[in-house]
Amino acid sequence: MRADTPIPSEHQDRLIHTLYGWYALTREQSDLGPFDTAERASRALSRHIKVYRGINPRTPGTPQRMHLHDADQCTRTNCGLCVEARILRHSLMLAAS
Ligand SMILES: [Zn+2]
Repeated sequence: MRADTPIPSEHQDRLIHTLYGWYALTREQSDLGPFDTAERASRALSRHIKVYRGINPRTPGTPQRMHLHDADQCTRTNCGLCVEARILRHSLMLAAS
């Protein structure tokens, strides 16, 4: 992480790196990405949060989607976690063959 491009600490656990690039996880239907750098993903996430603040308030009791992601059940349109899960599954298949 370069010092001249700070990423807010609250973004750290919402940015994931995949083979295809960086994704920013959102609470809306679609994640953001892929981006070629974490900084770009972070900036996109900042803009996204500004737009959605007030429209889609954080609901207490909503399950954390950061844990136990089931790609087969997922209905999101652009899901960074599914991308990550697919890559992981693919690389496990390659390792097993
Ligand atoms: Zn998903």
